[in-house]
Amino acid sequence: MSPAPSPHQDPTSRPVDTSRAVHDAVIVGAGFGGMGAAIALRRLGYDDLVILDREDDLGGTWHVNHYPGLAVDIPSATYSYSFAPNPYWSRMYAPGAELKQYASHVAQRFDLRRHMRFGVTVTRATWDDETCTWTVTLADGETVEGRLLLTATGFLSQPRLPDIPGIESFTGTVIHTAAWDDDHDLTGERVAVIGTGATAVQLIPEIAPRTADLTVYQRTAIWVTPKADGPVPRALQRLYARVPLSQRVARGIGSGVLETIMVTGVLQYRRLGFLNRLAARTATRHLHRQVPDPELRRQLTPDYSFGCKRPTFSNTYYPTFNRPDVHLETTSIDHVDATGIVTTDGRRRDIDTLVLATGFDLWDANFPAFTVEGVDGADLGSFWREQRFQAYQGVSVPGFPNFLSLNSPYSYSGLSYFTTIESQMKHMTRLLREVQRRGARRFEVTPQANARFLARMKHRLQSSVFINGSCATSRSYYFNQHGEATLLRPTSTANAFREAGRFPLTDYDIAA
Ligand code: NAP
Repeated sequence: MSPAPSPHQDPTSRPVDTSRAVHDAVIVGAGFGGMGAAIALRRLGYDDLVILDREDDLGGTWHVNHYPGLAVDIPSATYSYSFAPNPYWSRMYAPGAELKQYASHVAQRFDLRRHMRFGVTVTRATWDDETCTWTVTLADGETVEGRLLLTATGFLSQPRLPDIPGIESFTGTVIHTAAWDDDHDLTGERVAVIGTGATAVQLIPEIAPRTADLTVYQRTAIWVTPKADGPVPRALQRLYARVPLSQRVARGIGSGVLETIMVTGVLQYRRLGFLNRLAARTATRHLHRQVPDPELRRQLTPDYSFGCKRPTFSNTYYPTFNRPDVHLETTSIDHVDATGIVTTDGRRRDIDTLVLATGFDLWDANFPAFTVEGVDGADLGSFWREQRFQAYQGVSVPGFPNFLSLNSPYSYSGLSYFTTIESQMKHMTRLLREVQRRGARRFEVTPQANARFLARMKHRLQSSVFINGSCATSRSYYFNQHGEATLLRPTSTANAFREAGRFPLTDYDIAA
């Protein structure tokens, strides 16, 4: 019963027998996080893995999201596994469909599909200290057991429906961007979009040419910088394929720029706030170049420091508001009725379709995405809410043995999501190698190591824009319900990787 690899290894591609009593590991989530975890476990010799996903195919966010304009907004050379580069991205920022194809390609290359079960929603996971196993309960009551539990349920996976009075009485079509209806044709319709986050920034320029009239309801403006996008020439794709080092160089440059702006400028704001101000000036100049109307510019200008909330990149968002059939509405919504939206100043706008680009609920509906019960029935959600959001190295929590939570507080590096995944793969490799070496059946991070890590993260946050910038009006999902910015790991990406490969093994109790 040790979490050492199952003796029943199956090096062929036969589907995993999911009815087996106790699996080596149960992974929840078949997106890039879950697949990365499975690749790391397979490399360690664990072959009896079950990957559960509520959707009907793999790819996580890139399977679920298919709204018009969906594209990655981190350069594609950086937004992929470093060990599985794709030389054939069609653009600098690949369209969403290519990310989905890439996910399928990775699953095939690493033979992951045979571990996957789709259309299964996990409702609960319960630790048994006697048997040192996790029992994972599905919505239909079925249970799946594993010696390890890994959750890779994403940060942005629980869509947020706005709590606007009367919205349920609207008789037209309502579409959340995370449940896009490809069959619904917006051509000639009067459409409203609620939200101006990264999703809306991609969607609005795509749908505006089709709609008869488009109103964008903005509560908080977003910082938008120019996007150095374009097709990747065939010759460059061939070079990447023939000389992989050339793509690694491109990846290094992309990562360096992002790390400087999105990580260093945000986390070292006290010392390097000029980087943020430079980024804000770049975005402001971009707006001035693209929007001639000063009132419109004023409305589109954020009133919080760059970096308080996730900025985005687009060359087409601002110009869309110059169109006569596109309106920016900044007066708050009072209510929705059967046929339209009424703002607090009493104005109403009739619409046919309401698009909710209202994002995701991280802090109430996620963390964790389902009930996780550790030692003595301790509830992970209650622990996080009552004793503050925390996770040692962004992956493990005291009281929850044999459990790695990949989408945890302080886990996200802020750069490409793949840097987070790969540093977590490194962490689990170091940890589980030791578990295997000792023939142990149980590991658990010590409360002391967790407390030290939390204190260090809190200390490091003191230098960040979240503390020193002007973030009060940003309504950023980086902040939890306690007003603490506990999403990003406040260290450099290099530090995250270094520590993933060198953390003291004594930070875990590893028991035979
Ligand atoms: P988001 O950033 O959370 O934006 C949600 C928007 O909806 C905000 O403008 C928010 O306004 C507004 N909103 C929510 N509830 C509202 C209400 N009741 N009334 C009025 N407005 C309301 O969500 P998102 O745009 O879906 O983006 C989420 C994240 O996904 C991004 O930050 C990014 O990390 C990721 N993303 C990535 C890509 C990619 O290519 N990699 C593409 C799209 C998204 P407030 O700001 O005022 O709350």
